[in-house]
This record gives sequence, structure tokens and C-alpha cells, in this order.
Amino acid sequence: MLESKIPSGPIEKKWEKARFDFKLVNPANRRKHSVIIVGSGLAGAAAAASLAQQGYQVDCFCFQDSPRRAHSIAAQGGINAAKNYRNDGDSIFRLFYDTVKGGDFRAREGNVYRLAQLSVNIIDQCVAQGVPFAREYGGLLDTRSFGGVQVSRTFYARGQTGQQLLLGAYQALEEQEAAGSVKMHPRSEMLDLVLVNGKARGIITRNLVTGAIDSYAADVVVLATGGYGNVFYLSTNAKGSNATAIWRAHRRGALFGNPCFTQIHPTCIPVSSEHQSKLTLMSESLRNDGRVWVPKKKGDTRPPSQIPEDERDYYLERRYPSFGNLVPRDVASRAAKEVCDEGRGVGPGGQGVYLDFADAIRRMGEAQVREKYGNLFDMYEEITGENAYKVPMRIYPAVHYTMGGLWVDYNLMSTIPGLFVAGEANFSDHGANRLGASALMQGLADGYFILPYTLPNYIASTQLEKVDTSHPAFAATKEEVAKRVATMVNVRGKRSVDSFHKELGKMMWENCGMARSEQGLKINLERIPALREEFWKSVNIVGTGEELNQSLEKAGRVADFLELGELMCLDALQRRESCGGHFRVESQTPEGEALRDDEHFSYVSAWEWKGEGGQWELHQEPLTFEYVHLAQRSYK
Ligand SMILES: Cc1cc2nc3c(=O)[nH]c(=O)nc-3n(C[C@H](O)[C@H](O)[C@H](O)COP(=O)(O)OP(=O)(O)OC[C@H]3O[C@@H](n4cnc5c(N)ncnc54)[C@H](O)[C@@H]3O)c2cc1C
Repeated sequence: MLESKIPSGPIEKKWEKARFDFKLVNPANRRKHSVIIVGSGLAGAAAAASLAQQGYQVDCFCFQDSPRRAHSIAAQGGINAAKNYRNDGDSIFRLFYDTVKGGDFRAREGNVYRLAQLSVNIIDQCVAQGVPFAREYGGLLDTRSFGGVQVSRTFYARGQTGQQLLLGAYQALEEQEAAGSVKMHPRSEMLDLVLVNGKARGIITRNLVTGAIDSYAADVVVLATGGYGNVFYLSTNAKGSNATAIWRAHRRGALFGNPCFTQIHPTCIPVSSEHQSKLTLMSESLRNDGRVWVPKKKGDTRPPSQIPEDERDYYLERRYPSFGNLVPRDVASRAAKEVCDEGRGVGPGGQGVYLDFADAIRRMGEAQVREKYGNLFDMYEEITGENAYKVPMRIYPAVHYTMGGLWVDYNLMSTIPGLFVAGEANFSDHGANRLGASALMQGLADGYFILPYTLPNYIASTQLEKVDTSHPAFAATKEEVAKRVATMVNVRGKRSVDSFHKELGKMMWENCGMARSEQGLKINLERIPALREEFWKSVNIVGTGEELNQSLEKAGRVADFLELGELMCLDALQRRESCGGHFRVESQTPEGEALRDDEHFSYVSAWEWKGEGGQWELHQEPLTFEYVHLAQRSYK
């Protein structure tokens, strides 16, 4: 059933071969074809602009008031590319190798190699758009290092890389909107997918201002709707990020790939209160110059300045001398959890470790540190009231990114014909752990360089009958959506939507977070369905469905999280190995590192929805490694 469609031949020629084999659509015929793109973050905006520029009629949807507010704007640290401007040993093969190894050998080699190849084009594309990447004194583009690699291949625009890249993509999108090839639909939330004869042919949306339920038809649908880290309630994602679009498509037949693969980022500002609703990332780029440490002694409450050098444990440098503070995120997060569990954590509740810039300031001076990371230090001070030029930052791991998502083949098509998925919304090329600065690379590769080839190939090679919103499938799906919204509003119970979300998030963090055990996962698999049942009996949504209603918007998203959370736990329970960010306590090396079981789990898990009440069927896509030797990951 699962055909990955990876082209045959040597790895460096696969993408070229695929592009040659793809069917083309004649320029005069392109305007006869329509594409719906849900999402206008980096992946969606890049795809919409590129396909419109080719001549297709594009309708692009987002729930924010402007594409410029997509969550991609939050990306701080940078974007990887194998340009080797530093002449420090980088190459396409090395980026490919680092990514497969960083993902703990749970990604497809063919996809990752293509990603590494395309990385170099992305930088050229963005520079041509005017994205103001940081430059060195001589005018060349500057780079820095991110975790899990030993070269300097991360291009950046201070701590605002996502914002600058999004402005580039947005300008390209606006150009096409002005030309009449893109119609933008802001404040519109996709609530279902419409299938006609088994193919994706449209979507149902709710207008978030008026509450109107609308239908849209097209030849192809692309979902570029971002990640689902907010299932944990507390995460570094934008509060609006959600799973609804991909979840609704999953329920219509799209298989869900590796749902339990979640990334916990090691450098976030620690939780400070029960009432908190959002966590803030301190970019990984800070680990280029900041040193991570905790006191050697348990329960040491002295201020950091009073703890002498020989009483500090720079535990990452000690345990991983080759990579030091730049070990990958999963490794750094687990190490932080371990020292805190030992009672050596710092700050309120002992849930924190220091990220110290004193050495960097001594070495390069405060002005240079400010130049590189100024906005991050300012943000830290605004949130904590502490000046990190004077006292070390306090950081702790937090949910940040989801490697899981809808399963797609090499062409980024899901198991529903005509439904493509791009960016963080697909199960992606990062395996069980994403390396820093690789999400922007993947989203832009998908949008600017992959979909513009694979989607026309689908159009050119598929019999697409004429369909518009008068087809009965649209009326039927629309009715289902309207009924669901009305049912939710009419519960009129006693509990707020947030209280359900918080409770689910807590369960997910405790039992499906940084460490997962059979016992904990089984507890969640009992408690989540019960919570879901309670939600449908006692959620309280104030107001009506026929107006701007943020409580209703949240409720729809939480209802979907309550199903997705269960699938994540099921997937985590089924994968009885540890790999990357998926750490099963039963499967670890004597040093406490993740212990893979390649014999039994070297596959992508792709789950098929089989109906209400926690019924799924598992399909496996076997992973084979021809170019990167399967080995226990080591960063020592
Ligand atoms: C704080 C932070 C910092 C990061 N820093 C980096 C970094 O430095 N480098 C890096 O590589 N990665 C970074 N990442 C990860 C990266 O930012 C994201 O993975 C990436 O931006 C996702 O892009 P996207 O286009 O897939 O989705 P998003 O940018 O999340 O866009 C999703 C789009 O879909 C729309 N949408 C969603 N659901 C619906 C719906 N139902 N109906 C209609 N529209 C919908 C939204 O309106 C939005 O337009 C960071 C992540 C965080 C949280």
C-alpha cells in the first residue's frame, strides 16, 4: 500500500531523474488548473508564489489576518545549506549524512539527499529576493554552527531568520496576488477535506470573522499547515498552531506518519507558573558561544557568580567532548533532564540549567555578543527580568517541533490522490530528531523547489474530471462540518476549553514527553479517551458559531488534539525502541543514551484511521540504508 516512489539509480541522480521523468503541463494549459494551498507560512507561501508564477490559479488560505503572521515568523536561529563558504569540510553529502544520523536513521535516504542538494538553491533564491542574511566584514554571507554538526553551515539574519525569510516569500506571494494568479483567503480555517471519487478536490472552511461555512473546489489540494506541538499545551509554537487540517485529512484517509516523533528543544525559558500558556525559545544559535552548566553539588542554591569554576559541571562538554555544547537537541534535552532529576537543577523548582556567556564576553567583548544575539538577550530580559550579559541565562527543555505528520511519498503526495503536504505538516525528512535550522530548509525546499515539479506531474498524468462546489460531495461534507460546529457550541457545559487542553497537555508531557514508558503510555491510553468523552459532555463555549468566536476556534482544535494525542501514545507504545527524540526508558544504553532496535523498528509507522473510538491500523514503510552506515549515534 505504501509506495514511497523513490526513483531508482545513484542517490545523487535520483532527483534529476525524477524531474526528467515527470510529465509537464503546457504553459497555455496551466491557467485551466486550480490549486488550493492551505497555509501561508514558509512552505505554503513559497508553494503558492511558485505555482502561481508558473501559471496555475491558486487559492491560498490562512487563519491569521495576514500571511505575514504565520508561525514561521518566529524562527530565530537560521537555515542550513551546504554552500561550504567557510571551506571547513562541508558538502552536500555531509549535510545529507549529518541529517540522516541526526534523525537517528529513521528518515528516507533519497529524500534527505534531495533536501541537501536543494539547500544551496534556497540561499540563492532568498538572496535574490533580498532577504538580509548576516554578512561578514568582506561582504560574504556569514554562517554559524547548530547542534549535531561540526561545520558552520547555518545562514542567519540575527535572531529573526524566519521573519526575514517569510517577508521574502510573502513579497513573492503578494506579487502573484497583484497579478491576479493568487487569491488570498485570510481569517479562514479549513475544517474538512472534500473527496470526489477518492481524490482530494476541495476544502470546507469557516470564516473566522462571520462564522460562515464555505466550500472551495480545485484540481489539487496542498496542506502546509505547520506542526502540532501544541497538543502538549505548553510549547514554543505560536498559540494558534494546530493539527486540525491534517487531522481532518487523516480522518478522510490520509495516513499519519510517525505521530509520536516530537522534538523537545533544550534551550527554552523554564516554566515559571501554573498559569503560563506559552513557552519561549532561546535560539540554539546561543549554544555556539554560551556554555551549559549546573553546580556539581546537589541542592546548591548559591548565586552562579559565587560558584567557583571547579564546583561547576559543564556536563555537555564533559560527556561529549567532540561536540560539546552543540550536541543535537534530543541529546542535550535528555542530559538537562538527567541533571535536574539528580537534584542539581537551578532556579525555582530546580527545573533549569545555566547557559553562560561570561567566557564569550571575555573572549570577544560584550559589543560583539550583542551584535550576534542582541534581540535574544533583550527578549530574555523582558520575560525574566534578568540581564544575561551579567548573569547566566536559565534554560530548560520544552516541546518545539513535530517530526511526525501526514505520510507523503517522494513527490510529497499523501495516500489520498491529489492531496499534497508540505513543511512541518508532513512527516518530513528529519527522522526521529530534527537538526537545528533544518525546518526552514525543508519547508522552503518543499515549497520553492519540489512541489513546483511534482504537483504539475500529478495534474499532467491524472484524469481530472470537471468538479465544482455544486458536486454533492461538497454539500455533504459542509453539512457534517456545520453539524459538528453546532454540536460543540450546544454542549454548554461547565468546563473551559483551556482546562481540557491543559489537562491533555500535562498527560502528554508527563507520559509521552522527554521520557516514555510502557506503563505511562498505557495510563494515557486510558485517560485520553475518558477526557475526550468528558469534553463532548461538558465543554463550555461562550457565544455562537455565527460570529467571531475564539473559544469556538480553540475548541475545534482541542477536540482534534484529543484524538491525535491518543494516536501519539499508541505510536510511542508500539515503537518499543528509543530513537532520537523518542526515548523509551526500557530501551537505553548503559550510559543512558537512546538505544535503537534496527532489527525490529527500521521503518516509518504510517497509521490509518479506522473509525471513532481509537481504532487505527498500522502500516510500515521499511527504511533501507545504502549510503550511510547504520550505527549507534555517538557525539562523544
Ligand atoms: C520559536 C521557534 C523558533 C524556530 N526557529 C527555527 C530556526 O531557527 N530554524 C529552523 O529551521 N526552524 C526553526 N523553527 C521551526 C520552524 O519555524 C517551523 O518548523 C516552520 O516555520 C514551519 O513552517 P510551515 O510553513 O510548515 O508552517 P507555519 O509557519 O506554522 O504555517 C502554517 C500556516 O498554516 C495555516 N493554517 C494552519 N492550520 C490551518 C487551517 N486549519 N486552516 C487554514 N490555515 C491553516 C496558518 O495560518 C499558517 O499560515 C522554529 C520553531 C519555533 C517554534
